[in-house]
Amino acid sequence: MGVRGIWKGFGGNDVDPVRVPDAEAAASRVSVVSDRDRLAMLEGVEASDLAWFWATDAECRLTYLSAKAITQFADDRPVIGQPVARILKTASEDADQEEVKPLSYLLSSRSSFTELAVSINGDEGKESARKWWLLTGRPQFNKKQDFTGYRGTVRDITATYEEKRKTSRMAAFDALTGLSNRHRMTQRLTAALTAYKIEKRSCAIIMLDLDRFKQVNDTLGHPAGDELLRQVSQRLQRVAPTGAEIGRIGGDEFQLIVPDLDDRGKLGDCANRLIQMISQPYSIEGRRAIIGTSVGIAVAPYDGIESSELVKAADLALYAAKGGGRGQFRFYSNDLKESAEDRREIEEDLRDAIVREQLEMRYQPQVDARLHIVRGFEALMRWEHPEHGAISPAVFIPIAEESSLIDSLGAWALTQSCKDAAKWPGTLPVSVNVSARQFMNEDLPTVVAKALSESGLPASRLELEITESVFMGDVGSAQDMFARLKKLGVKLALDDFGTGYSSLSYLRQAPFDKIKIDQSFVRGCAEDGKSGRAIINAIASLARAMDMTTVAEGVEAMDELETVGSLEVDTVQGFIFSRAVSQGDVVAKLESGELRYEPVGPAKHRAQRRTLFRRIGIVHEDHHYVAMLRDLSRTGARIEGLLDVPIGTDLVIDLGEGQIVVGKVRRSQDATQGLEFEMPLVSDGAGGLCTRHRVSPYMLANVGMPLQALPSGHHLAAAAAGSDTSRTRPRFMQVDVGGGASRAG
Ligand code: C2E
Ligand code: CA
Ligand code: CA
Repeated sequence: MGVRGIWKGFGGNDVDPVRVPDAEAAASRVSVVSDRDRLAMLEGVEASDLAWFWATDAECRLTYLSAKAITQFADDRPVIGQPVARILKTASEDADQEEVKPLSYLLSSRSSFTELAVSINGDEGKESARKWWLLTGRPQFNKKQDFTGYRGTVRDITATYEEKRKTSRMAAFDALTGLSNRHRMTQRLTAALTAYKIEKRSCAIIMLDLDRFKQVNDTLGHPAGDELLRQVSQRLQRVAPTGAEIGRIGGDEFQLIVPDLDDRGKLGDCANRLIQMISQPYSIEGRRAIIGTSVGIAVAPYDGIESSELVKAADLALYAAKGGGRGQFRFYSNDLKESAEDRREIEEDLRDAIVREQLEMRYQPQVDARLHIVRGFEALMRWEHPEHGAISPAVFIPIAEESSLIDSLGAWALTQSCKDAAKWPGTLPVSVNVSARQFMNEDLPTVVAKALSESGLPASRLELEITESVFMGDVGSAQDMFARLKKLGVKLALDDFGTGYSSLSYLRQAPFDKIKIDQSFVRGCAEDGKSGRAIINAIASLARAMDMTTVAEGVEAMDELETVGSLEVDTVQGFIFSRAVSQGDVVAKLESGELRYEPVGPAKHRAQRRTLFRRIGIVHEDHHYVAMLRDLSRTGARIEGLLDVPIGTDLVIDLGEGQIVVGKVRRSQDATQGLEFEMPLVSDGAGGLCTRHRVSPYMLANVGMPLQALPSGHHLAAAAAGSDTSRTRPRFMQVDVGGGASRAG
């Protein structure tokens, strides 16, 4: 068509411009030029790139585009005849800037538009070659007022626009990974929460903190650290739930904002997927690195309404997840605030525990799986706290690991265990736990050598138990440490095998003498349909092939012992033979000359039910009762406190913090009922259970409570049931059963 063609439309009428009276009049007022001159002028404008022209037919398919504009499309791409909305798109359609309606919308509504920033659709991938235009368009109508298409101008603004985009990107995105930065994440979260408060929508935030990232950064160098962060961000993008906004908010901290996800079953699955994905090995500049991640989750409006409140909740959950050990997730709950304080207190007291002689080493026998003769002992630390009584190493070791306390604690354990073992009659070995943080300390071989020389224990009688988490970080430096320890003559055992980042490849990376098969496989391994047996068998035969011995940990029941004994497992460690006992008891046992242990335990493993004693709320009809929770499993609970509740009754159980479950009474005797839940509970990431859904603060606001995060008490079910207005007599008698802490959670 050429400029001549589209010129026709600029007066708004589909007639020859020469005969348009207005145009003619205007032209004659301004200057006296011929049509040919005017055409030449337009062609000049077009050629000078001051402005280009475009036009469409009534279907908004391109009928004209200045030749210079066409050259900006890739060679083989058809342009003329294509729908405009298909070949161009507005800036807001890929980068979310200020809200602009998509081009297709503007065109189909026949709107006029001026200076709309658009780019060529399909160019998004090649950032540097991307072209940006300012598009102006006017709909055209014929005499009968039928829409005949668009006419308009195009201005190439690539040079300035790209620069502008880059600066605004820099302010919002992380240059290293391309993810949103902290600033943008805060902005997005605040905007989302403000909008969702009105729309009554939920929004989860998931915080991730990489485990061992610092180690990779320190040993492999910063460029390697950067590369690792890039790879992590790619993996996050692959497994993040759809619709999630992903950001890097600090060195090795990432955050996901996930709209409309408040199902804790799904959130838990998502967290596990993220953990597994991040924990796969990385290849960086030809070296292997392994890291892990801990995950904390908080959900609006349940855990916080404002963004600062929600972020703080997720931070506390993350902190708890990190304290729980490797690769775990945690949901926020009200008592995390308390436990953060407890941890600080424990850390304080632990500093003095060694000098105040509150620590003791105890020894648990490792027994031949078939002959039941003792083959060695594992040293386990015990702490008798003056006020709190015995505190489990499962609690205080992770706290010690977070500070440098683990070094002195670990050194003490090594020295004490070697001294004790040196006094044992005979030559049985002692196994001492060495945590990953100790293992990373360059001084470990010196500490071990000193413990040996001071006690006079031969190196061959000392075994160090380490977990596979020592391979996290730079695999190479872990292997160096391995070699240095082996040179001392000590033995090395791989502890908790099969948990966490478990991979058979660890076995090839280091010359272990022993593998300890984790309790989780042993638990219930004799039952039908449990995979434990097959896994134990596979590990045991693999170990044998690689000249390593095996220990099955945590054997408690007779049928477990029988199963383990029928496989190629060498030794067994578990309550079935003995718990960890004092040095005095070990010496007495060994002096007695009776090296056999008699198995004592239940015939069969009993499915673990969490025995709890805590107060819960119960709602029936419009009455609110208080009862004790005696047992809780995924599918049901045992409660005590209501008299003579008939079988078949539906009760609403308030577990606190907005967790409400409906349960049907299946068994009932006096003040005790067995309930079956309508909807099973899900894992809370901490070995406990929680409900998938919680009572929404929006709903509580509807019944008159202020809109706020869920408090910890049990009055929610009451509020939801509106017990203040109860008009009927309570159906059941409540008896006081006491006997437990009333703390919620
Ligand atoms: P671990 O190394 O896996 O130790 C085995 C744990 O399983 C011990 O818990 C032991 O008492 C328990 N156990 C043994 N047999 C059975 C059984 O049949 N059933 C059940 N349910 N449990 C059984 P403990 O003593 O509470 O230690 C917990 C963890 O604390 C240890 O796990 C270890 O990781 C750490 N730890 C203990 N002492 C030390 C130490 O001196 N240094 C370091 N770094 N860590 C230690
Ligand atoms: Ca151990
Ligand atoms: Ca273990």
